[in-house]
Amino acid sequence: MTRQQYCIANWKMNKTPSEGAKFVNNFKIKDLYNSQVKIILCPPYPTLISVKEELIGGIELGAQNVHFETKGAFTGEVSTSMLKDLSCVWVILGHSERRHVFLEEDEIIQKKLVRVLKDGLHPILCIGETLTERESGKTETVLESQLNSALDGVDSETSNLVIAYEPVWAIGTGRTASLDMIADAHKTVRRILSNLGFNGQEISVLYGGSVNPDNAEELNSIDEIDGFLIGGASLKEDSFYQIYRSFK
Ligand code: PEP
Repeated sequence: MTRQQYCIANWKMNKTPSEGAKFVNNFKIKDLYNSQVKIILCPPYPTLISVKEELIGGIELGAQNVHFETKGAFTGEVSTSMLKDLSCVWVILGHSERRHVFLEEDEIIQKKLVRVLKDGLHPILCIGETLTERESGKTETVLESQLNSALDGVDSETSNLVIAYEPVWAIGTGRTASLDMIADAHKTVRRILSNLGFNGQEISVLYGGSVNPDNAEELNSIDEIDGFLIGGASLKEDSFYQIYRSFK
């Protein structure tokens, strides 16, 4: 089974519009030789515009969030049509910072996911357990509950869905999950997806959590991993490119 591979940059609240444009200008002159790997940049909202202007074919644009309503009195929010107008194709949903810092609940994530798919964007759905949940043996229950909730009402035939398994304790901490933990979690995700009626073997499941140029090759040796969602190490052109080069 060949699944699409992804190398995705989540810049979080980093990079002004001019810094984003500079990144793309430096990055796009590199040898992006691997057509099997989709590169996606997810800048903060204002930086989407300058990044879009500098993009070349082979690099796609993603947002870090979106609202589930289409328009109206939602101060501070952004709609799917606004993102589409900027040639955005992807939207990160359910990131642990949205869940834990902004207290976004499963119900909201589900509404956003349904909206994103309905309006022709592609969700990158993040799921993952906290350290306490892992240490108390609840990883599988948490993944099951997050997938169950987020995918409620989603057509199981959809092919426009990417899952990112991101253990919360590995995000931005320099602490990566072990290869066995990741392989097990990815197999669990596929099993849950299949139980929900989706084709678990066809949906790309990425890993996120302190991926960097030093560990990317080893992580990429796990068959279950279909690519990475990268925070800190995606902020510098060279380290993001080295991670890209770890794909075989
Ligand atoms: C992320 O933001 O999704 C992430 C995995 O961050 P980091 O790579 O910095 O751990």
